[in-house]
Amino acid sequence: VTAVPTDLISHTGFYAGGAHVPVAPETPSLAVINPATEQRLGTIPDCGPAEIDAAVSSAQSAFLGEWGRSSGAERASAMERFADAILKRSDEIAALVSRQNGMPLAMSGLANAVSAAATLRYYAELARTVPAGEVRPALSFAGHSVVLRAPVGVVATIVPWNYPQGLAFMKIAPALAAGCTIVLKPSPETSLDTSLIADAAEEAGLPPGVLNIVTGGRETGSYLVTHPGVNKVAFTGSTAAGRMIAAQCGQALKPVTLELGGKSAALVLDDADMAATLDGLAFLCFANAGQSCFLNSRVIVARSCYEELVDGLVTLARSFVLGDPMDEATTMGPLITAAQRERVEGYVRGAVADGARVATGGRRPPHLERGWFYEPTIAIDVDNRSTLAQEEVFGPVVAVMAAADDDAAVAMANDSDFGLGGSVWSADQDRAESVARRVQTGTIGINMWTLDPAAPFGGHKASGLGREFGPEGLDEYVNLTSLFVPAG
Ligand code: NAD
Repeated sequence: VTAVPTDLISHTGFYAGGAHVPVAPETPSLAVINPATEQRLGTIPDCGPAEIDAAVSSAQSAFLGEWGRSSGAERASAMERFADAILKRSDEIAALVSRQNGMPLAMSGLANAVSAAATLRYYAELARTVPAGEVRPALSFAGHSVVLRAPVGVVATIVPWNYPQGLAFMKIAPALAAGCTIVLKPSPETSLDTSLIADAAEEAGLPPGVLNIVTGGRETGSYLVTHPGVNKVAFTGSTAAGRMIAAQCGQALKPVTLELGGKSAALVLDDADMAATLDGLAFLCFANAGQSCFLNSRVIVARSCYEELVDGLVTLARSFVLGDPMDEATTMGPLITAAQRERVEGYVRGAVADGARVATGGRRPPHLERGWFYEPTIAIDVDNRSTLAQEEVFGPVVAVMAAADDDAAVAMANDSDFGLGGSVWSADQDRAESVARRVQTGTIGINMWTLDPAAPFGGHKASGLGREFGPEGLDEYVNLTSLFVPAG
């Protein structure tokens, strides 16, 4: 990594075998743009076969070397040192992520280095405590079986730009705990911060080749997915890319976990505490300018409180401070690209054509001349079958719908191709819980929503396959062998 005098950050290599390796001279580069200023921040290599082959090969060597034979306790110690080294760089990581993806700085620390370190620590504990084998009495012969847990091998980890490090470590941490080695491909929009991950891995004394990093776009990812040296793919991103990757992994009979898109619902029941609901929805409807997979972008509210909630949501939407993500006062940054903003604008135009009304927002903020900003938008009277209610917008646009009763609210929530997050708001916790249990989704909260490292996270339906977090997240990186031992 060389910082050139113009303040541009130029990556000219990839990370493999514990070293920064220069890319082949013919490897093209990609520009990294600050979405708040529309100015170039730096460049990264668009890695191709030569670089990817080298990264996979060093991951294979490390897997066959000391890491593949290490004990859970040894890996746990390395992971804890890695967590410390990441946390030491927390401010630097937060600033660099925010400059690349426009996430407000206050959020960027928690969502990246702090979350990465917490995930590493959680899985370090499992590496230390989950036995590598379990003895079971045999039922069909005299003797016993030993169920051995072995790491799957080399894992390709492909992540998007919205929470780059938090999402990467939801894969890296369980993979390390299981004894796997990794090739990480970050999103081209947020690759500059990965050199800090490499620095932290070195400081932690991770053996060379355990963690490798290649940068680039879709083709880099695709080549990595289909690489015969890759034993498993862990992907977070769009449902469209997930379907393609699933097909490629299906063809190769390669295990894959997919964390994909969402169109989750907040169900606001007629006895909800409105102030508390709006407080919670500030994050759940608008986190990271709506560029969050878990977003509650459909608000399904009891008809009797529809007007009150809409008024509250309009006030809430207007309360966000849009601007420079590096300014502590900013509560909403820009969208990631000009194209993404145009896509969001298209969804809002389409919603109006479909009969919805824009209660607030629906435009670029007039006071911000540069940057891909878009005002927080509340669309009301939305039909749950319309495009706005069915497709993931990935912007600060909330669709509000009225429901006649709890049953109707559940039916509307479930009338979706997705099932990732969700929340139920009610003064009666038992009632909220019985509603929540009927929603087809991977995670759902009562009067709140969060992620918890101990509880599996993942999607139903088109929101994904497999789980991250919890012991289930570790199992995704483990191959089982039943060893039959006759009585001696
Ligand atoms: P994307 O699918 O375009 O890209 C994600 C990553 O995959 C990038 O690194 C990209 O370069 C790579 N990629 C794209 N196509 C590929 C292919 N065919 N083969 C291999 N790699 C490929 O998604 P995005 O626009 O960067 O991210 C936004 C999407 O991610 C949204 O749909 C969002 O809901 C989803 N997401 C899901 C979760 C979750 O946990 N479920 C979390 C965050 C984001």
